[in-house]
Amino acid sequence: MIDVSVVIPIYNEALNISLLYERLTKILQQMNISYELIFVNDGSRDESIDLIKKLAEIHKEIKFIDLSRNFGHQIAVSAGLDKTQGKRVVIIDADLQDPPELIEDLYAKMNEGYEVVYAKRKRRKGEGFMKLLTAKLFYRILASITSIRIPVDTGDFRLMDSKVVEALRQMPESHKFLRGQISWIGYKQTFVEYERDERHAGKTGYTYRKMLKFALDGITAFSNFPIKLVTVMGFVVSIIAFLIILYTFYVKYFTDQDIERGWASLMVGILFLGGVQLISIGILGEYISRINTDVRKRPLYFIKETNI
Ligand code: UDP
Ligand code: MG
Repeated sequence: MIDVSVVIPIYNEALNISLLYERLTKILQQMNISYELIFVNDGSRDESIDLIKKLAEIHKEIKFIDLSRNFGHQIAVSAGLDKTQGKRVVIIDADLQDPPELIEDLYAKMNEGYEVVYAKRKRRKGEGFMKLLTAKLFYRILASITSIRIPVDTGDFRLMDSKVVEALRQMPESHKFLRGQISWIGYKQTFVEYERDERHAGKTGYTYRKMLKFALDGITAFSNFPIKLVTVMGFVVSIIAFLIILYTFYVKYFTDQDIERGWASLMVGILFLGGVQLISIGILGEYISRINTDVRKRPLYFIKETNI
């Protein structure tokens, strides 16, 4: 049996693949373990897949899965995880933001008796202000509204026992949030800290749109807090409304004031209620749309070609 499988999602990473291969090979050979590298091409529009296939012809430890189109990072990783054979599995980004050399530390830590060792970023280099801010905020919000403990400031860079991978394979949900699922699975988990490097070359495949979708997937998959918030908002608004109703009756029947002058308050009330209602429907919609995709039970991805 192979000691370690490395799963690498690839989306337009042609400029990084050869250096990534070199650095991975160097450290894994130095560790003196058997390994396989599983490159998952997630519908890249550059020559990534040609490079990978060329490497695979020469080196037999290289496996590739060429997906039928771009399914997104989480699905690409899942496709790789479905095919790993190693006793342990590493998930690593292709852009060298996750230093391959850290695998040795993750491995050593796991030998102390853990099933998951994730890499926790102490610092992130070369990342824009907005990305850092939104990521920080997101992880804090997520941590405060979910019941399971999803580690803050960690990506998917981690080493897992095959038991954990087996558990992941049994979780068929289509809106993947792997780091959350892995926490949910349990076993003994710990972390190793590292400094996240800059992307070696190319540009990020995570647009703000993908990031927002990812964030909502994470929240809806692990928390019903937003729905409960809707209920609470409903109560708060109803109580306020009730008080205003009482006041309105009071003015109409017990004073001489002219009630028809309340145009401004009417507008404020209507617009406020309209806003609250639309937000509430939107929150429900986020959950329902996810139920909808899960009900369809479509396969998560399709494979165009593979050498596994
Ligand atoms: N990736 C992918 N599919 C996508 C977007 C990204 O497989 O739709 C891969 C990408 O090639 C990289 C990893 O996921 O190996 C992380 O992506 P990226 O570096 O673009 O994200 P960031 O580090 O900026 O969050
Ligand atoms: Mg990156």
